[in-house]
Amino acid sequence: MSDVRDRVERIVRQVVVETIASGGLDVQRLTDSPARRPLIAANWKMNMLAADARRYAAKLDTHAESGVETLICPPLVLLPVLRDALSGDTHVSLGAQDLHPEHAGAHTGEHSGEMIKDAGASYVIVGHSERRASGEDDELVRRKLRAALGAGLMPILCVGERVDERERGATFRVLRSQLTLALTGLGQPAPDPRDIVVAYEPVWAIGSGRVATPSQAQEALSFIRDRLGELFSHAWAERARLLYGGSVGVGNARSLACLPDVDGFLVGGAGLNPEALSEIIAAVAGENR
Ligand code: PEP
Repeated sequence: MSDVRDRVERIVRQVVVETIASGGLDVQRLTDSPARRPLIAANWKMNMLAADARRYAAKLDTHAESGVETLICPPLVLLPVLRDALSGDTHVSLGAQDLHPEHAGAHTGEHSGEMIKDAGASYVIVGHSERRASGEDDELVRRKLRAALGAGLMPILCVGERVDERERGATFRVLRSQLTLALTGLGQPAPDPRDIVVAYEPVWAIGSGRVATPSQAQEALSFIRDRLGELFSHAWAERARLLYGGSVGVGNARSLACLPDVDGFLVGGAGLNPEALSEIIAAVAGENR
């Protein structure tokens, strides 16, 4: 039954996306949301040494005047290195790739939100598919999201379907479930929408070179914004930033950046190269003018 609902929702969204693409709707009006500052986040994963991080910081062009926010999520040990190398650049934020849900205790090898913030980060990625694949379930994602907010960090909540789930028409069901389990009961009043970022990261597009088409990305992101509207309020959802992630690169950034519900990107592989990341930022800055 829910797969039928998935299919109907997809058809409706497809019509909307094609109408926008054919110039039938006022895209400028739809994207006109001053609260949604574009965000380009680079997830370095387990790459780079201190000297690489310093070289990267020297080469990165954040297109500071464009209003785009750049975020680097290095391995945790490199946070202080980057904080020093980037000192004074207020257009670059720092983030971690994960956190522990407790704030202290006997958890060998783990880091709390408070520690991450203390090391210079203001964001943290939560529920990345590579962590879900190594056993992280929705309940742990829910706890980590709360721990991040409790520590004063902005979580980037990653959601996305596997290829088998897409092929059997379960994409929206997966997204609905991941969002609901992570965000339900976040408290009254609801957190500020600027404090939570949601990244749509179809698992089949991550590190595969197989990027989602603009219409696949837009239909998923508009679905996510609608669900956020149901969980919080329509006004809340309109102010929340949504990212697309999955094989974003210099060649596809522009065609994705112009989509009404894309407020930026979560970039893996291409984000390891400062010139490539600078070009992606430029593409988003061009769309933001
Ligand atoms: C990611 O790991 O979140 C990601 C989007 O990676 P890539 O850009 O390499 O697909």
